[in-house]
Amino acid sequence: MNPLSVKADFPILTQVVNERPLVYLDNAATSQKPQCVIDAVSHYYETTNSNVHRGVHTLGSQATDLYEGARAKVQAFIKANDAAEIIFTRGTTASINIVASSYAMAQLQVGDEIVISPAEHHSNLIPWQQVAQQTGATLTYFELEVDGRLTVEKAAAAINKQTKIVALAQASNVLGTINPIKEIAAIAHANGAIIVVDGAQSVPHLPVDVQELDIDFLAFSGHKMMGPTGIGVLYGKRALLEAMDPVEYGGEMIDFVTLEGATWKELPWKFEAGTPIIAGAIGLGAAIDYLNTIGMATVAAHGTELVAYALERLRTIEGIDIHGPLDPQQRTALVSFNVGDIHPHDLSTVLDEQGIAIRAGHHCAQPLMKWLGASSTARASFYMYNTKAEVDALVAAIELTKEYFGYGEA
Ligand code: PMP
Repeated sequence: MNPLSVKADFPILTQVVNERPLVYLDNAATSQKPQCVIDAVSHYYETTNSNVHRGVHTLGSQATDLYEGARAKVQAFIKANDAAEIIFTRGTTASINIVASSYAMAQLQVGDEIVISPAEHHSNLIPWQQVAQQTGATLTYFELEVDGRLTVEKAAAAINKQTKIVALAQASNVLGTINPIKEIAAIAHANGAIIVVDGAQSVPHLPVDVQELDIDFLAFSGHKMMGPTGIGVLYGKRALLEAMDPVEYGGEMIDFVTLEGATWKELPWKFEAGTPIIAGAIGLGAAIDYLNTIGMATVAAHGTELVAYALERLRTIEGIDIHGPLDPQQRTALVSFNVGDIHPHDLSTVLDEQGIAIRAGHHCAQPLMKWLGASSTARASFYMYNTKAEVDALVAAIELTKEYFGYGEA
């Protein structure tokens, strides 16, 4: 699959920014959308817009079919056993918060442990801090290797019979590391714990099979996988979801209501109070169709090839500090780095003048920044439409920035 032919499907990528062709390397923050996703959303509004699950009229049932059809696409994409295990949410953050506030708040007590990694995005850290504070459970941390990897051995050392929840990103949004989720899930289960996986950076880039990994919950966002913003997914094993209370109450999620009380609909609607994100879900379904046409194995291979090339080229820059493992096989398609004492914000501002969009900051992972000994980093993150020529443009622009800040001068 040629990335240039993929690129042609993304209208935004033909843009000129600051008089240069746009080089979009901020995909870990959000990805661009192919024309077919944009069309699916506008076609829905042009032809089918209606509320779901209630209208006994043609548009209402068409909208319901499209919305539930999108759920089936998500189910197949992550190989869930049952469409009832797919809950549409606002995104990864909302999905993790559902598990924290419904499952964890009810199950945990003093003496229990939650174990996470110090590399987690704030979305997979703060909800657990809150659970620990409110239930009296203890939050503990895995120990990382010097290059930021989490080994199965170190994971095993942190999980014990007190552990009730292991919460871990499958791929780090800063280090790019891919964690050995299947092995860690097995260790969690052997100790009677469940595992909650933050798939925000893995589901868009790798084939993910929830049954093969045997994970209990998986959270991810549509906007990082070529879908619209505002839509995300919580996958949960049916038995766990069934035992959980809803977190929001209102229309759509009820079965029967009296003035005295109410009963809930069955899964997945029990967790989808109010009018759902209909167009977003349909757009996500179109994004999944698009990714399936390319094939997730191809997406993953392209990511590895680009990150290998980026690591090789970036390493030629004198004074660069690349974070995370240097073996591309251990990474998803992103690289975080610092260049000398150039502030990442300055670096990204100068790069922007060259039409190159990267991210600079703490990437919602402040404890990881502390661990790295940096206040912030620059991050280039790739997707299916990025090319080696764009990596070359990035490297050339970094060299130019160094000159601009007086590096290399006598
Ligand atoms: N976890 C990780 C690893 C992420 O990269 C992100 C997005 N930066 C999130 C969680 C949160 O995703 P969202 O903002 O879409 O809820």
